[in-house]
Amino acid sequence: MSRILHELNVDLGDRSYPIVIGQQLLGNYDLTPWVGGSQVMIVTNETVAPLYLERAIRSFPGLQVDTVVLPDGEQYKDWGTLNRIFDALLEKRHSRKTTLVALGGGVVGDMTGFAAACYQRGVPFIQIPTTLLSQVDSSVGGKTGINHPLGKNMIGAFHQPDVVLIDTASLTTLPSREVSAGLAEVIKYGLIRDLDFLAWLEAEMERLVALDSEALAEAIYRSCRCKAEVVALDEREGGLRAILNLGHTFGHAIETFAGYGNWLHGEAVGTGMIMAADLSAREGMISDADERRVRDIVRRAGLPARPPEGMSPDDFMALMAVDKKNIDGKLRLVLLAHVGQAVVTADSKPENLTETLAKFCR
Ligand code: NAD
Ligand code: MG
Repeated sequence: MSRILHELNVDLGDRSYPIVIGQQLLGNYDLTPWVGGSQVMIVTNETVAPLYLERAIRSFPGLQVDTVVLPDGEQYKDWGTLNRIFDALLEKRHSRKTTLVALGGGVVGDMTGFAAACYQRGVPFIQIPTTLLSQVDSSVGGKTGINHPLGKNMIGAFHQPDVVLIDTASLTTLPSREVSAGLAEVIKYGLIRDLDFLAWLEAEMERLVALDSEALAEAIYRSCRCKAEVVALDEREGGLRAILNLGHTFGHAIETFAGYGNWLHGEAVGTGMIMAADLSAREGMISDADERRVRDIVRRAGLPARPPEGMSPDDFMALMAVDKKNIDGKLRLVLLAHVGQAVVTADSKPENLTETLAKFCR
């Protein structure tokens, strides 16, 4: 049965937009009110198309709906693949009034959003995220882009969607590793800003892992609300938005060391948050009990609690030195002032970081 469970608004002045969350919405929820013209281009990939494309087309009754199906994978988040979206738009004569629709995970969402930012100097776009990670993270906030051979997400634009439609039913086909990876970002919101949500997650983690649709909708709603608040306060990442990177400095080092694709982003962030909590405890910011609390919830989400075998403290130091948050060569980290409140600091003691790395590297 199709049911809307939550709605919220991302407040960005004249770029504000709604997020609609529910079960069985795809194909049943009419998205035409958000389409200005008569043309729609749905962008998806070869994994998601057989599962959900037919249903997505049904959300745009009475319009010219064209589709482009891209290959699946982060390695295709590049210029060549992006061009296939422009090829399809031009071949099917889509005008400045067309609307692009992203149907898929964060890769499809980031590429489609960037295509929408560029095509005819900018056209509207709709997000239909189908992974937990894209539902709670990449579909909210307006960051779009592609990778360059020399760096991830290096070419891009800010371009906000007009509406985000989240159907929890789409998560039933998602591999469980991907579900856990999405839960890492969900837990992050509780840790950085919302103690009440963290307590709720501790009570409901089993239902979430089992894909209970009402529990998922609640978790997605509260995650989107948290990200929307942070983004509304700091749309272009001047300051506050950096707290969304809890666990990400350690996490990026892990992802790079393991080789992209071997560890999922969320898996690396899960371990990274445990390491950040350990360092926060050494800095005297949180108690040892709080540090265990972080470790327990991350593990209950099915996420790894240690970096990959063979990764040394020197590997971490070398890889963390290139983090975008660093200023003037000083390592800046997101730590926990309390459980439920993150801070960005460049003042952690080097010996504490050394001890954290020594503890986690085997
Ligand atoms: P993804 O898009 O690669 O999706 C993961 C896998 O799941 C893919 O194989 C995909 O085809 C498959 N899939 C998608 N939906 C499915 C479904 N319902 N059932 C079965 N399989 C399904 O990965 P992701 O984790 O969704 O997103 C990662 C990307 O998001 C990265 O490129 C990252 O840079 C980006 N990202 C962007 C932002 C942002 O703010 N724009 C934030 C976080 C991440
Ligand atoms: Mg992330």
